Amino acid sequence: MIQPNIPETKQPRIVIVGGGFGGVNLAKQLKHVPVQVVLLDRNNYHLFQPLLYQVSTAGLEPDSIAFPLRGIFKKQKNLVFRMAEVTGLRSEENILETGIGEIHYDYLVFATGSNTNFFGNKNIEENAIGMKSLIEAVQIRNYVVKQFEESLLLQNPEEIKPKLNFVMVGGGPTGVELAGAFAELRKYIMPKDYPTLPQSLMNVYLIEAGPKLLASFSEKTSQKTLQALQDIGVRVLTNTGVKEYDGKTVTLSTGEQIQTQSLLWSAGVKGIPVTGIPADIVLPNGRILVNELNEVKGFTNIYAIGDIAQMTNDPRFPKGYPMVAQVAIQQGKNVANNIRLSLEHKPTKGFNYKDLGSMATIGRNRAVAEIAGIRLSGYLAWMVWMVVHLMSLLGFRNKLVVFINWFYRYFTYERGTRIIIKRGAANIVKLRQSVNG
Ligand SMILES: Cc1cc2nc3c(=O)[nH]c(=O)nc-3n(C[C@H](O)[C@H](O)[C@H](O)COP(=O)(O)OP(=O)(O)OC[C@H]3O[C@@H](n4cnc5c(N)ncnc54)[C@H](O)[C@@H]3O)c2cc1C
Repeated sequence: MIQPNIPETKQPRIVIVGGGFGGVNLAKQLKHVPVQVVLLDRNNYHLFQPLLYQVSTAGLEPDSIAFPLRGIFKKQKNLVFRMAEVTGLRSEENILETGIGEIHYDYLVFATGSNTNFFGNKNIEENAIGMKSLIEAVQIRNYVVKQFEESLLLQNPEEIKPKLNFVMVGGGPTGVELAGAFAELRKYIMPKDYPTLPQSLMNVYLIEAGPKLLASFSEKTSQKTLQALQDIGVRVLTNTGVKEYDGKTVTLSTGEQIQTQSLLWSAGVKGIPVTGIPADIVLPNGRILVNELNEVKGFTNIYAIGDIAQMTNDPRFPKGYPMVAQVAIQQGKNVANNIRLSLEHKPTKGFNYKDLGSMATIGRNRAVAEIAGIRLSGYLAWMVWMVVHLMSLLGFRNKLVVFINWFYRYFTYERGTRIIIKRGAANIVKLRQSVNG
């Protein structure tokens, strides 16, 4: 019979669900605390989601943005990792239900991140493509390359266009980065690999429901982003929502229709809390309500951090912190510190978010950044973006591989991974459903 086989201990057991930005930083911070740390994740790797879009547009290999969790913690003696899907919570017994059996905890931390939010539109959910996991990013790459290969077999431009119209929904950093990367595929790769396909048949759209791109950035930065995207041929439609999508035609709130077989959805994310968390503390966006210590409302030994947690006591962010890596990292460290302090019977400290700034890349030599009140754009912002992302990647090998890849691409205008890995590359929707369970 399968069981977790976690060594018994007299030390307090801290169970962390999720080896993403929050979970990993929390676990690392507990290295010298006299506790047993049990880290659970459905995958055996930490995923650097900010670079997923480069995997999906054939810029990077998937394993260069994922790092094995066992590798991260190989020297941390007080940590046990188990690859497991967490399915439920029985808080009255301090028991977590998982695919490998039940696990007892003294302290429990949910760091389970978020998933794509289709805002209840079932048709869009069934037919659009989300990008939250590594497998989805690889499938998008397969799918996109396949669209080009299949276009070569057609003669009627009206049949080719839906294959080469790529529509991104959501004008946040992910949508902007994806749109920029697709525009670069058209400019640099299409003429090399598919010289008989006229570039005019490929169109990249970016649809944003709000009045501007990068809503959390300044008006000036947003304008610069719009201009940069338009310069590389992206058709940006703001104040425009997506009403329907049936896998062939997207209908916009303006009444306009675009024929496309590829609608990439990055218009929102939501939390997916495990069964057993009281429904009254789960908000409509799936996030769990926590206090300033990241304690789940009503509990003193259960925490939630990062994307899954909604903390509303900071007047700068009355609707909760943005779902970004820095929030998860800082909350993970603070909770670890507080667990240590409470074990030492010392007063704990409320979370104090240090906003380190935001950035988005648009393409070659083009990015925008707002750091400590300083606005950067163009080449300098692009360099800063690259350095920050390289430094943030886990593992020397991954840093080196990504650096070499970028260096090579910069001088050759190449994208190295334009291969289709089958099986079932055509059925991206089915795959997404199986990945999301
Ligand atoms: C495409 C994309 C681009 C992004 N770009 C940026 C960016 O440029 N800058 C930025 O700051 N942020 C960016 N983000 C957001 C950032 O990645 C998240 O805010 C961050 O990952 C949140 O960290 P987390 O620890 O809360 O969750 P995650 O990092 O998502 O980790 C959650 C972990 O929990 C595991 N898990 C979930 N449920 C279960 C379960 N039931 N059982 C077991 N394991 C489970 C998952 O496998 C995962 O490893 C981006 C996100 C995406 C999707």
